[in-house]
Amino acid sequence: MHIQKEKKDLIVPVRLDLNSTFTFTCDKEIACYTRCCRDAYILLTPCDIIRMKQRLGLSSDEFLHIYTTLGYIEKTDLPIPVMKMLEDEEKTCPFLDESGCGIYEDRPLTCRYYPLSAGMFHDQDLHSDEHFFALVKESHCLGHDLGRELTVDEWRKDQGIIPYDEVNYGWTELILKRKSLGPFVTIPDKTLQMFFMGCYNIDRFRRFVFDSLFLNVYIVPEERKKKISEDDLAMLDLAVDWLKTTLLGEHRLEIREQIAETDPVEVEA
Ligand code: SF4
Ligand code: SF4
Repeated sequence: MHIQKEKKDLIVPVRLDLNSTFTFTCDKEIACYTRCCRDAYILLTPCDIIRMKQRLGLSSDEFLHIYTTLGYIEKTDLPIPVMKMLEDEEKTCPFLDESGCGIYEDRPLTCRYYPLSAGMFHDQDLHSDEHFFALVKESHCLGHDLGRELTVDEWRKDQGIIPYDEVNYGWTELILKRKSLGPFVTIPDKTLQMFFMGCYNIDRFRRFVFDSLFLNVYIVPEERKKKISEDDLAMLDLAVDWLKTTLLGEHRLEIREQIAETDPVEVEA
């Protein structure tokens, strides 16, 4: 995930790990304050969407419709919502107000990471996943080499990133699994739609679970059913289990016996 400005403005990023250090400061007194909130390319994770739509009192359908356009996760065909900037000259973030970020406590992960960007790499030979980070230096950002030196890990803690990572864990696994299949494996459009609904449109997925044959096909214990009816994070957990079961064949959800015997049964997305 990253914020991207015009290429000419970007100094080549430096690759970092959790223990790497960098020196940076950002506060309301700095001359460039909120400059980074204009013309930004902000990919939204499942946790971002849940936090933002809850804060704004919107359904996920409404939030996606009003505030996002469609993008793709780097080097995959997997869709991801991208925050829609305003159509003013500076392409201002819709959440920027006179005093700064109007949703600061629920700002997206990309904004929390900045001036770092974060990514994950799947090493097919080693069958392992590696987290990596990059320090992005843009000429408009005056916070570099000022203030205190801190590690990437300290920055992640300071910016409240770790709870986001915990919520996004299953989604990240799905992305890495997709990457591990390689670019020559094609994913049908319907599967990509299922991925989009499960990961980003949690209220639509809730309707799908309760209004379709979903609960006739999959065994969901009463306690979990109650939780998903009112809790978006629990619903996201179910969505990830469903996607891992249907897309990756991982048996995260149990299928009712009579349904399994009369296979194939298709759950309409
Ligand atoms: S220092 Fe960088 S991150 Fe902070 S307000 Fe300025 S441009 Fe944004
Ligand atoms: S969400 Fe907040 S921090 Fe992020 S770009 Fe918009 S105003 Fe800036």
